[in-house]
Parts: sequence; structure tokens; C-alpha cells
Amino acid sequence: MSTSESPTPSSAIVLEGQLLLPVTGRGLEVALGRVVMRGGVIEAVHVGESGPRADLGSPEHFICPGFVDAHVHLPQFDSIGVDGMELLEWLHQAIFPAEAKWEDERYASEMSGRVARQLLSFGTTAVAAYATVHPASAQAAIDVLAEHGIAGHVGQVLMDREAPAELLLPAREALSAAGRMRGRGRIQPAVTPRFAVTCSREMLEGAGRLARETGWVVQTHLSETRAECALVKRLHGGENYAEVYERAGLLGHRTLLGHGIHLADEELGLLAMRGAWIAHCPTANRFLRAGTFDRARAMSAGVKIALGSDVAGGPDRSMVRVARGMIEAAKERGTRPPTSAEAWWQITGGNAWALGLVDTGRLEAGCAGDVVVARPDSRWREAADPLGALMYAWDDRWVEGVWCGGTRRYG
Ligand SMILES: [Zn+2]
Repeated sequence: MSTSESPTPSSAIVLEGQLLLPVTGRGLEVALGRVVMRGGVIEAVHVGESGPRADLGSPEHFICPGFVDAHVHLPQFDSIGVDGMELLEWLHQAIFPAEAKWEDERYASEMSGRVARQLLSFGTTAVAAYATVHPASAQAAIDVLAEHGIAGHVGQVLMDREAPAELLLPAREALSAAGRMRGRGRIQPAVTPRFAVTCSREMLEGAGRLARETGWVVQTHLSETRAECALVKRLHGGENYAEVYERAGLLGHRTLLGHGIHLADEELGLLAMRGAWIAHCPTANRFLRAGTFDRARAMSAGVKIALGSDVAGGPDRSMVRVARGMIEAAKERGTRPPTSAEAWWQITGGNAWALGLVDTGRLEAGCAGDVVVARPDSRWREAADPLGALMYAWDDRWVEGVWCGGTRRYG
């Protein structure tokens, strides 16, 4: 029997610490208290010094919702740090060979397990993730992440051109396999055309139909580098990048678009109108020198923003460091950087909202028991901006326990 199907323990677990709590107006505050979990969900949150006896934690502990990664590639975790190339060359030299190994379903399953354990060790409890083009391996990735208690979406990648032959599947075959993916535990399949370079119009339109039929999340890449944008224009008859996805019916409020760096005003307007999300990936953009996303400009155009590690384009597996990268990217653009509270919100409740996981990402009664317990060794609470001090000094060795759906999965 898989662990995700184990009977839910009926006894309560009580965690004590400095709680990262949502306050009206999308802000966050820190307050001493206790989180009570039972039956997989947060049953109650007690603020203050009194409350039920704690099973774990102390006033020195920091307790926050599990982190949510809105853009990550499972088969790329062993390819972190392959440096010195721009996106398209990097894909062909480093990434496609790594993804070709997933032809072997057992390899994919074993690697998915390793990746799931890494995600949990960094406090990530929900993802929007890419597998590879191999249907059996994509299904294995869904199953393995679900068995580890992780929530979110995992997609079989769709590609029918501009990649090595062993990674191409004709549109009809690829789409029919993608439509047969099964959700498991807290993981749902996602419609995942890799990007407009590696997908014919037939593939993109089929993906749009599949998204309408299933209601699954759509994830793809958009406007990461200028060379990629030029290639899309050439391959798609001169259309704007966002327009290519629009014509295929791929833009909606369940669409997560990785990067979106080099977009024209009318493309941002289109994304805003459709309610699509840009999954901003600052650490990846810096690593691949793709450009620096202008978060403030996209937000003022009305586009909703999620945040992703984009491993392995992004070398950082910790969403706390990706959040810091978001602040740094805004500084580089010379725009108002997100506050530390906004950055903590982004990697918890904000990203959960982007993934449609409305019952996670917050320490609130009724939400899923997705919780990180850490013991910082710095005096962050005495800092002028405690959440900033915590984010910049963050050390993964502080993480003592991670719960998914009320079950301890790490520590
Ligand atoms: Zn990506």
C-alpha cells in the first residue's frame, strides 16, 4: 500500500513556534502560537502563549506553510549548474540528453523519488512540474510525487519538432497519451506543450482542446530569450509569441507561462485579459542570462505573477532563495522590489493560488496540513525587518520537519 493511501491518523499533532500568518490585505505577520493538525488538515491555529501542549517546536521555531514551486522540471535535477550556454544550445547539449534517459520508466520512477525527497527537504510541498515526453514515465512521476504526499500538477511534455528524434512524438499519439494520464493522491496531470518552438500548430491546438476537455492546468514557456522569440516568429508565420498560444486556445486562468521576459505591451494585455499567469523564474533567468523580468511592468498591465525555481535552468532548489532572487531582479530593473512579506506570500499562498490549490499555502483552519518547521540560528526576530532577515539568512539546515497533508514527510 502506498503511503498516500494510508489511513489518515486521527490523533492531533500540535506544532509550536513563530507562525507566519496571513492578514487581511494579502500581507503576512509573525506571531507566537500553535498549529493543530488532524485528519490531514489544519484543525485550528492558536495565537498567543497558551494553547494545547506542543508535540514539537518552541518559541524559537519558525513555522510557515509548505513552499509552492510554480515551475520546475523533474528530469533536470541532475543537470543543475551546466553553465556557459544560452537557452537553445543548453537545451540541446545538456537537457535533452538528460530527458532522453526517462525513456526507461524505472529510471524515471527512481529519479522522481530522489527529486521528491529533495523537494521535501527544501520545504516544497506543492509543484507545477514538467516530466518528459515519455507517457509511462510521466505517469510514474505523477504516482511517485503523489506517494510522497506532494500536491500540484505534473505534465507529460508535448514535442513534435525541433528536438532530437528520440524525444519527439507525433501530435496525435502524444495528445492521446497525454489525455490518458491519471491523477493520483494530490497530483493532477497538466497539459504541457514544452514551448512554441518544439510544437507544431497541430500539437498546440490539440493541447488547447485537451485543456478544455479536462480542465487541467496548462503549463508552457513564453518569451524566455530573444533568440527563442525570433525562432518562434519564424516557425509560426510572424505571429507574436503570446498570440501563438492564444490562437491555440491555450491562454486561460489555469495557464502558467514560464518566464515572459520579452513581451510587447499588447502581449501583456492579452495575458491579463485571459487571466493567465506568468511564472517568473528569476534564478533561472540569471543563470542562463535570458534577461531580467520586469515584474512591476507585468503587474501594472494586470498580469498575475507566480514564482518558479525552473530547475535546472535555475540552480536553486529552495523557494526561499528563489524568492530572494525575485527581490534582486526587481532591484536590477530599478523598480520597487517586493517586500519580504510579499516574497514570503508569493512562495506560499500566492503560488498556491496560481496553481489552483485554494486549500493550501496558508496556516489557517481548514487548509491542508502542509507545514514547514524550522529552527533559525540567527536573531531574526530582533531585526528591523524580521521576515527579510529570515529570508536573507535562510539556511536549509534549519528545516526540522515538513508535513504534507498532515503527514510528516521530512525530518
Ligand atoms: Zn522551464
